[in-house]
Amino acid sequence: MPELPEVETVRKVLEKWVIDKTITDVEFFYNGVLDGINKTSFINNIKNQKIKAVDRKGKFLLFKLSDYILISHLRMEGKYYLVKENVIDPKINKHKIISFTLDDGNKLIYHDVRKFGKMKLIKYEEESTDKSLSKLGEEPFSINEEELYKKIKSSKRKIKTLLLDQAIIAGLGNIYVDEVLFFSNIHPNREGESISKKENKKIIEHSIKVLNRAIELGGSSVYSYHFAGSVSGKFQNELQVYGRKDLECFKCGSKIAKTKIGGRGTHFCPRCQK
Ligand SMILES: [Zn+2]
Repeated sequence: MPELPEVETVRKVLEKWVIDKTITDVEFFYNGVLDGINKTSFINNIKNQKIKAVDRKGKFLLFKLSDYILISHLRMEGKYYLVKENVIDPKINKHKIISFTLDDGNKLIYHDVRKFGKMKLIKYEEESTDKSLSKLGEEPFSINEEELYKKIKSSKRKIKTLLLDQAIIAGLGNIYVDEVLFFSNIHPNREGESISKKENKKIIEHSIKVLNRAIELGGSSVYSYHFAGSVSGKFQNELQVYGRKDLECFKCGSKIAKTKIGGRGTHFCPRCQK
């Protein structure tokens, strides 16, 4: 599943492709992509809308149009392609879900092998109350240290589970939580209430570092997008604990351990992480 750095990488590419383009037509190949909204009104509303910006909130892509926001979630394997007029690529055609014709003649195609991705169109005034967007917590880049600490400190849930909860902190997926806890020297099994103020600060700092590094390295692989292991680009070569069960810890040489917390595979160094 693409995580925040992969989605941010996609966002940057989309920005280059579609800013200031107007959507002149829409074609559907799989109606299930629409999250509880009517297809006819979707088409009527989105036609002739200009794409003014491509933003991101958590793992949601937000196409800011003249009068609406198109929300897109890639889920497991959603991808975007920009196809030049008259070019037919059988690989893309097979799993295309929706195609937006732009006023420069190019088509922006949403492609999804698994068909789990979702899209919907909302008005600007609905952004703050939208059920998927409003549930999202702040990302590490903008989160308030005190507020995060209050939420963690008042919980008996495991720190690993807390950091995966997108309502508490948005944007950290399974791989990145393992990495962040390693850098913060925190055992993933600890309860939220045992976390100190200092450790809370470390969690935020390392979340920012890890995500920024992954975003930096994610850029190179966007056109041949690999979701295997959920890490794009070269970042997978820098993983400290994730996917390294029984290998030596880079810091202390102990064997990396793997366990399950809240149903999720969790990697950690038993010596470095207290
Ligand atoms: Zn270690």
